[in-house]
Amino acid sequence: MAIKSILRWGSWPFLFGCCLALFAYGMHIGQPILYFNLAYVFLALTLFFLERFMPHEREWLGADGQLWQDLAHTLSSKGLVQGLLVFGGVIGLSAFLTPAAEAGRGIWPREWPMAAQVILGVVSAEFMLYLAHRMGHRWPPMWAFHAIHHSVKRLWIVNTGRFHFIDSLISIVMALGLLLVLGAPMEVVKWLSAVTAFIGMLTHCNVDMKFGPISWFFNTPELHRWHHSKDLREGDKNFGENIMLWDWVFRSYFNEDRRPPVDIGIKQAMPVAFRHQLMYPFRRNYYHGLRDKRTEKDPHIF
Ligand SMILES: [Zn+2]
Ligand SMILES: [Zn+2]
Repeated sequence: MAIKSILRWGSWPFLFGCCLALFAYGMHIGQPILYFNLAYVFLALTLFFLERFMPHEREWLGADGQLWQDLAHTLSSKGLVQGLLVFGGVIGLSAFLTPAAEAGRGIWPREWPMAAQVILGVVSAEFMLYLAHRMGHRWPPMWAFHAIHHSVKRLWIVNTGRFHFIDSLISIVMALGLLLVLGAPMEVVKWLSAVTAFIGMLTHCNVDMKFGPISWFFNTPELHRWHHSKDLREGDKNFGENIMLWDWVFRSYFNEDRRPPVDIGIKQAMPVAFRHQLMYPFRRNYYHGLRDKRTEKDPHIF
């Protein structure tokens, strides 16, 4: 059907473009939070309908019993962490660091056009996001936090924000910390937050989309579905959050011309209840199991 073909190829660039345009308008008129929220709700609603109209995996439409846990993790990680950072840490830190940059001592190129500064911000922050994500997979104490995100059995827009809040905190502090140390202005930080939120929801959506060369540059659902594979030859790849540059540089880019597995998740058992999931990385037997059963081939089996 022609309409589905247009939607398959056009949805990702169209939706991402609309969200960027709405946010740019909001920044222009001094209402970034309002327009960010409008764009985010527009994106979520559109993807929610597309997931039902043209799902990538029909099996993933069924309930997995984790809806409230997904929402609770989203609220605790995005809400609490970003709230604290944006209203406390970032503004405080930025007020402290920004004068240094304005006096000509910072190395951030504030004279560049804002679009170029945003691209520079996304590329440089992405290095930290990549590092935090890769450490989350390779370093067992950090994997204990990141495993909450990977324990999902299906991908859809609602588990976009399913992160242990400490997992989110580590990557946000690393990425925003770098930008602020470099002397980036708050506009760049706001743009990075918006881009990360839009791309994050798109990468988790269960919509039958096609990408072609878009996946060379951006983190797309087709790349992120490999990242959620149980098979570490596929799952231990594509660590990029927004762009794939650092996956290319550090040779962790993975995409093949076949369907990624439907049966996604992790090999160890994850508690069902939200509060037990929050405590999961702190359980004592987690580290005992780690020492006894970890194999070199599969660091995720405990
Ligand atoms: Zn991951
Ligand atoms: Zn994911």
